[in-house]
Amino acid sequence: TVRTRIAPSPTGDPHVGTAYIALFNLCFAKQHGGEFILRIEDTDQTRSTPESEQAILDSLRWLGIEWTEGPDIGGNKGPYRQSERKDIYAQYAQELIEKGHAFYCYRTPEELDELREARRAAGGFAALKPSELKLPEDEVERRKAAGMPCVIRMNVPEGEGPCPINDMLRGTIELDWGQVDAQILLKSDGMPTYHLANVVDDHLMDITHVLRGEEWINSAPKHKLLYEYFGWEMPQLCHLPLLRNPDKSKLSKRKNPTSILFYQRMGYLPEALVNYLGRMGWSMPDEREKFSLADMVANFDVQRVSLGGPIFDVEKLNWLNSLWIREDLSTEQLAKRLHDWLLNEDSLLKVIPHAQKRMNTLSDFIPLSGFLASGYLPITQESFSESKLDEDNLKKVLQFSLWKLEALRTWERDEIFSTLKSLADNMEIKIKDFLAPMFIAVSGTTASFSVMDSMELLGPDMTRARLRHALN
Ligand code: ATP
Ligand code: GLU
Repeated sequence: TVRTRIAPSPTGDPHVGTAYIALFNLCFAKQHGGEFILRIEDTDQTRSTPESEQAILDSLRWLGIEWTEGPDIGGNKGPYRQSERKDIYAQYAQELIEKGHAFYCYRTPEELDELREARRAAGGFAALKPSELKLPEDEVERRKAAGMPCVIRMNVPEGEGPCPINDMLRGTIELDWGQVDAQILLKSDGMPTYHLANVVDDHLMDITHVLRGEEWINSAPKHKLLYEYFGWEMPQLCHLPLLRNPDKSKLSKRKNPTSILFYQRMGYLPEALVNYLGRMGWSMPDEREKFSLADMVANFDVQRVSLGGPIFDVEKLNWLNSLWIREDLSTEQLAKRLHDWLLNEDSLLKVIPHAQKRMNTLSDFIPLSGFLASGYLPITQESFSESKLDEDNLKKVLQFSLWKLEALRTWERDEIFSTLKSLADNMEIKIKDFLAPMFIAVSGTTASFSVMDSMELLGPDMTRARLRHALN
């Protein structure tokens, strides 16, 4: 049977790109009467969080994308979380050592830098090869006895030469062995890298087809080698085109909200978002623009995916969403949607503590907190008329804050505050004058919750979207 998977890394907000890839994997599996499973690739322990994992699962479910095996529901090929499979990877890395397909590498970071530098000076590829990395046996023994950290790397062909990769959409792609380095498989802390864990798991979980983003094409030669080394059949590969911004660059949160949570908060219907994602590089045989997930499954054909980069355009999504709202919901159904979206207990419980201390009557609630439920706020130059900053500084405050906030890994009020405070200090602007325009951009007024609380409640994508909007 056909088995496909989505293998997200829980390192941030759930990405629309993840939902897009998941959707195509689901449709491909279902169309073949197969199974679609979900695996969490959390081997990067410094960046992975349980909150991110939960948000990914919740958002995919919200979209109606369902899996039949996964970390939350189990299955007979589990565990489905890579951090719980450490011993398995160590065992397979060991097998490769024994077969002579991998080696222990005791090179220090300084030595690695020198090797790379020497490579660059000689005008060669940056990829380091086993012959350069391997130390004489007595030196290996010495470093081992001294307890120096070591990794396991894979053997790869030394020279250049073509490496053909079969892709379901592209036919045979010729990659170059010269670009393929002696990849680390097991890190010094015993955790596997993506490449080892991904190949081992796809095999052990009986994955037959891997549909993933085209950014992984360059990893395919390493994966192909690993399958050969283990003597396993390689799944069929299909690299899907990446989503793009309207300016054709890769969709990125610097230009466009990428978090599914943002689209939820803006009040898009899951049916419309999943419909829109289904139109990313794919179309129905009759070219109809509005279709349900069930329609898509029934008509799916991966060969209809076109390779030109699909543009994720919020204007088009708005239009499609309006069709779903107007044509598919009765008054009662829309009432129910609005109720669940606006008055769901989780978000109310987060908002109420901030509102309660400022309320005289219940009717104060909407004026105080309505900005949280709005999409973009009606901000104009006038909105900033009370700012102590001149126009130039005002722009800088908003723009620099936006850049700083884009780089934040965790979205939490104290962290946001210290980031903005150090920016204000650097710009020699009093924190009060600095935050006032932020307040306006984010909440529309200064007479509301504290700006840090507002940003935390709004989440990173909505906060950034409002800052960008205020800058325009
Ligand atoms: P950004 O540039 O917005 O920070 P990113 O590439 O850093 O994006 P990640 O957090 O690394 O985003 O990616 C999360 C998931 O979303 C990954 O599985 C990645 O493959 C997928 N993804 C990211 N960008 C795209 C895209 N443009 N199209 C399709 N999938 C994407
Ligand atoms: N964990 C990888 C990601 O985050 C999976 C890539 C793949 O599908 O092989 O995209």
